Amino acid sequence: MKKPIKVGFDFDGVIAYNPARLVRAPISLFKRNILGVKKLSFFYPKTSVEKLMWKLVHNSSVFPGTGIELFKKMVTEEKIEAHLITARYGYLDTHLNNWLKKHRLENYFTSIHMNRENKQPHLFKEETIGKLNLNYFVEDNWDIVEYLSEKAKKRKSEKEKTRIFWIYNVIDTWFTPYENKFPNVGKAVEKIMKEEKLK
Ligand SMILES: [Mg+2]
Repeated sequence: MKKPIKVGFDFDGVIAYNPARLVRAPISLFKRNILGVKKLSFFYPKTSVEKLMWKLVHNSSVFPGTGIELFKKMVTEEKIEAHLITARYGYLDTHLNNWLKKHRLENYFTSIHMNRENKQPHLFKEETIGKLNLNYFVEDNWDIVEYLSEKAKKRKSEKEKTRIFWIYNVIDTWFTPYENKFPNVGKAVEKIMKEEKLK
């Protein structure tokens, strides 16, 4: 039997659909295109009020992403091996576990990686993807997609290259050309199946 394809999935905005992304999109677009801010650094909540606000925002990741059934099918049939990589800061992990249990998704991942040392998200993801030697990584944050795909290009052999798939939202996609962009996790898995000739 063919070895399963190793695929990494981000949590917020990929495995879980997060309506708050639509609110954030115009802000990041404004910063990027009008102000020309390109710095990759992310807000880290420090005080308890900030942490509480952050939790509320992340609690809005309510539904499993569209097409999650296809994801489950591919994992069950051992066509893909799924790894969850989330840059969520460590103190959010009970919420993550509860969410996975509630939606019966806790047994689909070969491994789950959380950002326990509170590293910058793009660095944490780069490091974890490298360690796992993934064939694909599916991410919704454009800044992270851009960073990781640049890094992947610089890797020497084709074999070592992780292909970065982007889950866009309607606002982002008007402005951003990218080859592998998809509206939801199901479409991304569909494309992986096509590329790898899986049925
Ligand atoms: Mg995300």
